[in-house]
Amino acid sequence: MTLKLYNSLSKKKEDLKPLKNKIKMYSCGPTVYDNPHIGNFRSFVFFDLLKKYLNFLNFDVQHVMNVTDIDDKIINKCCGKIKNLELMTKKYFESFKNDANKLKIDLPNQVPFATDHIDEMINLIEKLILKGHAYKTEDGSVFFKIDSFKNYGMLSKIDFSQLSKTDRIKNDEYDKNSINDFALWKSRKVNDGDIFWNSPWGNGRPGWHIECSAMSLKYLGAQFDIHCGGIDLLFPHHENEIAQSVCATNKTFAKLWVHCEHLLINGSKMSKSLNNFYTLNDIIKKGYNVNTIRFFLISSSYSHKIDLNDVNLNSSNSALKRIQDFYNRIFELSKGDVEIDNNKIMNTQLIVDFKIAMNDNLNMSKALSVIFNYIKKINIKLDKKQMTYKESILTLAALNKIDEVLGVIRSSEIKLSKNDKKLIEERNLARKNKNWDRADEIRLFFKKKGIDIDDSEAGIIIK
Ligand code: AMP
Ligand code: ZN
Repeated sequence: MTLKLYNSLSKKKEDLKPLKNKIKMYSCGPTVYDNPHIGNFRSFVFFDLLKKYLNFLNFDVQHVMNVTDIDDKIINKCCGKIKNLELMTKKYFESFKNDANKLKIDLPNQVPFATDHIDEMINLIEKLILKGHAYKTEDGSVFFKIDSFKNYGMLSKIDFSQLSKTDRIKNDEYDKNSINDFALWKSRKVNDGDIFWNSPWGNGRPGWHIECSAMSLKYLGAQFDIHCGGIDLLFPHHENEIAQSVCATNKTFAKLWVHCEHLLINGSKMSKSLNNFYTLNDIIKKGYNVNTIRFFLISSSYSHKIDLNDVNLNSSNSALKRIQDFYNRIFELSKGDVEIDNNKIMNTQLIVDFKIAMNDNLNMSKALSVIFNYIKKINIKLDKKQMTYKESILTLAALNKIDEVLGVIRSSEIKLSKNDKKLIEERNLARKNKNWDRADEIRLFFKKKGIDIDDSEAGIIIK
């Protein structure tokens, strides 16, 4: 039973077959020129869900996500001052991290910034020029020659034989009617002020697309398993990434391309340019808690559009409450104790059925109906007082396991059972008496339950 994901490249669901012993995954990260909106977070939460599910399947995952801290929009907003750029991009990256943390998104293993990788981008561009895939123009810019890559269009399936492609395009973003040679390096313009870097072609700055090719190559190598992004990035950004990377390395680049559909508002894509966006804090201020918001973002399949409105948020709230009420019932009965044998947990019917649903391209609608059917069945058993303590500790463990993927059932506060509290006291005493073996034994016990205990100068921290 393997995970199948819809590959935008082959337009089919495909089995995930890792290239090596660990899954290498790249996702396009935030452009840090403003606070991210909840539409951006639909994509980021999805990348996180995918990574968490891969971990649930026991895969070791290396996840890299770039931060775009240089592009047309950023230069405009910084009025061409590098000092402004540094302050602004730092500020909005912090804002991204804060919201990501509230939404229980684990930061990827590496989060490289574009401006820290200018040398890598220059090297890649030099390689492309050397191999005849790129050319310099009189003003000191460099363009990728799309005619030089016969598979250009392989992802977006654009038939560009019908279009004239004599022009060059310098904008970072453009639509499918502008299939032209695109900028890898942009020569310095007056408006760029002091935002520029030296290069073999003169002062300037990189285009947007080259950053993801350079950084994925550096951190994941020329070939890796999964590339994800929001659906709006499929063309031109991802098409251009493929062209640059394949032409530079002669390798196939990413095997699976996974795209997350848009979050809509009143039927239109939520975006800064349409000025129809809400931030996470805007929605919290409306009275929704972060677990409900995360649940709303993940509860439909990632390949479907979803609309942000009160009806949908309220129904997410009620659905999640049903799961949480059930969790609390089980928690009471099990006294917060959980079964620790992972094999036993993975073989429960709940987990087996959840896995079948999720293995089908992360089919969240199916996965949630598995959970709700289970709740219905077990609630009857609980009402009749037919559930034993032994069954309840296994159920609690299975629910915790599912929540390691969904991240919505438990609040950030950790509920400790009476026994847990006693053990923590015992561990404190063991540490006082320098009985390190017992202290470690107790720490390990909690680790297996998914609770980390750190000792700090200020006391113990439970995560
Ligand atoms: P940006 O910060 O504009 O570079 O976008 C960051 C990520 O958010 C990209 O993967 C985009 O595809 C994604 N994104 C932007 N708007 C939306 C939306 N309305 N729904 C889902 N994803 C989005
Ligand atoms: Zn990218």
